[in-house]
Amino acid sequence: MNIDGKQAAADLRAELAVEVATMQAERNITPGLTVVLVGEDPASQVYVRNKVKQTRDIGMISNEIKLADSTTEEELLMTLASLNNDASVHGILVQLPLPKHINEQKIIATIAPEKDVDGFHAMNSGRLLNGESDALVPCTPQGCVILAKRHLGDDLSGKHAVIIGRSNIVGKPVSILFLQENCTVTIAHSRTQDLPAICRQADILVAAVGRPEFVKADWVKAGATVIDVGINRIERDGKNKLVGDVDFADVQDKCSGITPVPGGVGPMTIACLLKNTVAAAKNYG
Ligand code: NAD
Repeated sequence: MNIDGKQAAADLRAELAVEVATMQAERNITPGLTVVLVGEDPASQVYVRNKVKQTRDIGMISNEIKLADSTTEEELLMTLASLNNDASVHGILVQLPLPKHINEQKIIATIAPEKDVDGFHAMNSGRLLNGESDALVPCTPQGCVILAKRHLGDDLSGKHAVIIGRSNIVGKPVSILFLQENCTVTIAHSRTQDLPAICRQADILVAAVGRPEFVKADWVKAGATVIDVGINRIERDGKNKLVGDVDFADVQDKCSGITPVPGGVGPMTIACLLKNTVAAAKNYG
């Protein structure tokens, strides 16, 4: 069966809308998210537009700062310093990737950790690793765990979660989150030997690789839960298509639940961004 990320994201947004209304009524605080976009990358523009719209739809304040491709690192740092000092801004997100002349790590390190709703600041990665409850956790990994629980129930303890991918954005943080859920976690990556055999051990298989339809049915244990993070644009039958890192048609009858692409992990990413902004406003507003 499909694990419906669209519905899960709608449910989460509905819960958050209630929290936002309560914060407004009880504390006179409206959570605010500012998204900074540097340059003209078309995919980034679509992502930013969706983030701004969904933020406003649940009653939060959303601002977008658009900067030219030619913006210097110094100018971006100054923009971030002023957002860090603006009490009406609870969450700051700098849309990645940035133009080549800007050092991403330096930019991420400049965002105040308590406003870092992407959860990429080293302070937040450290808090996540330490299991501190006030960590702002990267959005896509949070979405993966919510979807796994939607299918399997809240108790994931003892399940073997195999994560393919070890990026800072997805693979590493999602591994820590499943560990916190008392799963046994295996992290596989580009140097892993006999990947199919390792994947076959998984009760929960998370694919965050960036290779279209990479995971096949004979890599999947019967009845496993498959979380497909991949977003890959391919051309098939003369048409552009979006596919995941899992060969959906091949795998769907073998597993007990799978997140489709699109409509799985993707929608949860933005919903979790809103969740982080509400949490930031609650903790520090
Ligand atoms: P990345 O390129 O940073 O990392 C890919 C990982 O896959 C690496 O750690 C690498 O070790 C591993 N890998 C590469 N080739 C492999 C192989 N042959 N065998 C085993 N492992 C291999 O990518 P990322 O940022 O982690 O993103 C992964 C995918 O998830 C991409 O398709 C990306 O578009 C997608 N993504 C989706 C969302 C979302 O909202 N749904 C968010 C972030 C990323």
